[in-house]
Amino acid sequence: MNIHEFQARQILARHGIPVPEGEVARTPDEAARAAERFGGTVVVKAQVHVGGRGKAGGVKLAGSPAEARESAEAILGMEIKGLEVRQVLVAPAEDIVSEAYLGIVMDRANQADTIMVSSEGGVDIEEVAATMPEAIRKLAVDPRYGLLNHQAAALGHHLYDDPKVARQAAAIIAKLYEAYRASGATLAEINPLIVNPQGEVKAIDAKMNIDDNALFRSPEIAAFRDLEAENPAEARAREAELSYIQLDGNVACCVNGAGLAMATMDLVKYYGGEPANFLDIGGSSNPDKVVTALELITEDPKVTSILFNIFGGITRCDDVANGIVEATSRIEIKVPITIRLTGTNEELGVEILEENGFEAMVDMDKAVETAVQRGAGA
Ligand code: GDP
Ligand code: MN
Repeated sequence: MNIHEFQARQILARHGIPVPEGEVARTPDEAARAAERFGGTVVVKAQVHVGGRGKAGGVKLAGSPAEARESAEAILGMEIKGLEVRQVLVAPAEDIVSEAYLGIVMDRANQADTIMVSSEGGVDIEEVAATMPEAIRKLAVDPRYGLLNHQAAALGHHLYDDPKVARQAAAIIAKLYEAYRASGATLAEINPLIVNPQGEVKAIDAKMNIDDNALFRSPEIAAFRDLEAENPAEARAREAELSYIQLDGNVACCVNGAGLAMATMDLVKYYGGEPANFLDIGGSSNPDKVVTALELITEDPKVTSILFNIFGGITRCDDVANGIVEATSRIEIKVPITIRLTGTNEELGVEILEENGFEAMVDMDKAVETAVQRGAGA
């Protein structure tokens, strides 16, 4: 789950990381009032689930409440990487002497949480990573021991020469690691981590992704979910207990079980197609789920072919067949549907489908190849 900067800032602050205060505003007037309360120069920042807001014009300094109102007017309603800005964060602006990068990610290749630091922080960190990866220092944390004090100290000293500043950075790195672990995060980033003219180190931006499977441990973080800011189709899928991720291709896949869904997508690619989505309808036998799944799939204008690949275990083939029949009677489907069913109640499922004018296949390779060909207009 993605959370907003202002929410990530709350988590960091709770773990003792120095973060300037801030207030969320949904209208220009609210932004002006927040600026008035803080006094002096404030920064007005778009709250959307993507990075690169600064470069897109979504971060503006404002010297007065009137300017904060203008900045909020410009930023609210703006689209950044396809997401509409519905709220801004207003925070007292910091004077910046230097900008560093600090991030922790779950690095699956390394099988370890990996801390990354660079003194070349700020809005160009992607370019730094691409053109001079040696400017980013990495540390894979051994999960048996956690982050050791001397490791945090070494990272702090890598960022800053002044020992007083380096010690503050080391403490922040250790706290960020704690916050990351305690929240069940898969990513926690402070970019930039700044030093101000008083020599204080602070986080003035924060980004965190939380593992959905860790949310049950922290209801206060689960409550951060912002349905307005999410892909509406994916939010609806979650409500229906479907795992659905939109992709760029044209062959829609409707599958039961995550492993079979992955295998199906691989096979679509093998036969020269591109999957339009990952969709796991799960192990239950509920025709309504199939209806919702087909609704989601057909709302995606890229889809030119629909493939069902069902391996009946707990999921019963007849339930899926009934779901397909019901869904296609409710919604008009203009693209070809290819169905492969096997397993529990297969005969019954095939019978239901054939009675209703569908063709059912049993062989997975054949079905995927057919769906890919139909999608290409063959
Ligand atoms: P991002 O572009 O989405 O990562 O948004 P950031 O919050 O990182 O802001 C982008 C850039 O705006 C930062 O790298 C800073 O250079 C600048 N910026 C953000 N907040 C402040 C602030 O409080 N004071 C000053 N002087 N600059 C800021
Ligand atoms: Mn940033």
